[in-house]
Amino acid sequence: MAQIYERVALIGLGLIAGSMAHAMKRHGLAAHVAGYARSEETRKAAAEIGFVDSVHATAIEAVKDADLIVLAVPVGAMGAVAEEIGPHLKPGATVTDVGSVKQAVIDAVGPHLPEGVHFVPSHPMAGTEHSGPYSGFATLFENRWWLLTPIEGTDEGAIARLRALYEGFGANVDTMEAGHHDLVLAVVSHTPHLIAYTMVGVADHLRRVSQSEVIKYSATGFRDFTRIAASDPTMWRDVFLTNKDATLDILGRFTEELFVLQRAIRMGDGDHLHEYFTRTRAIRRGIIEAGQDTDAPDFGRTRKG
Ligand code: NAP
Repeated sequence: MAQIYERVALIGLGLIAGSMAHAMKRHGLAAHVAGYARSEETRKAAAEIGFVDSVHATAIEAVKDADLIVLAVPVGAMGAVAEEIGPHLKPGATVTDVGSVKQAVIDAVGPHLPEGVHFVPSHPMAGTEHSGPYSGFATLFENRWWLLTPIEGTDEGAIARLRALYEGFGANVDTMEAGHHDLVLAVVSHTPHLIAYTMVGVADHLRRVSQSEVIKYSATGFRDFTRIAASDPTMWRDVFLTNKDATLDILGRFTEELFVLQRAIRMGDGDHLHEYFTRTRAIRRGIIEAGQDTDAPDFGRTRKG
């Protein structure tokens, strides 16, 4: 595949940046990838793994002469990073971020970027419950959505080039308005994570069922909640703090529906339950037909996995 950027700087070297670095190397999409992480431990790990061409002790050093700068830190840390690197960016460079929330990042980062630097916010809808430099892999973005939420008036060439990079990773790229992105993500990702965290919390507090029973019999559904609830606490704290309105909106609707189902159970309204579960089953079929999940029993797990 053709090279798209001469020099890319990754700020933060965890799951997402690491996966981008692996993918850029595999597909020859950048001539040089520079990396920065705040901890010495992560910088050492990145040098040892070798997914970047140079590791830098400061973000300012890493962004020097870079054509593309990727902010791959928790959403709550994006503003401070942008403030630090802003004055050191090359004119004509593009800055993107990979944060899970978009409007808050635009508000935090935008004011720190100088004239002549293109800001194209983005969000890869791919991830795992693992984090840190060792968790990244080149195929993470293949056949997954990567959403761009460009601000009106942004240079079309800069957007097209970033799109080409993500398509080079094997991702499907779509464009969306930032506020709408945050609402969509509250439905498909943020609120489901909160529900998973809650369910695992409930099991933890329930004293009438022992911990060992919860673990032993978890394959009946609970296990899938625990996988989601194992996601990085810092990342998810920041998601809820910065996508507050949309999450509270969806959570409000969720609790209302939950009460309706609770009442149907209490009143023995089997018709209501059956009709509700028939509708949700159709949604699952739609997800499989759209190629967003596997139809294999137990999500494709082997019996032992
Ligand atoms: P990660 O594996 O935990 O890596 C985070 C990186 O950010 C690490 O290099 C860490 O540095 C650095 N960092 C953490 N706090 C920082 C701070 N206050 N200031 C400067 N650097 C800081 O996280 P990730 O999963 O790659 O997530 C990165 C971004 O991608 C987040 O904004 C997240 O919302 C978004 N995202 C994540 C997923 C997912 O499933 N994980 C999916 C899509 C988008 P040290 O290692 O030195 O501590």
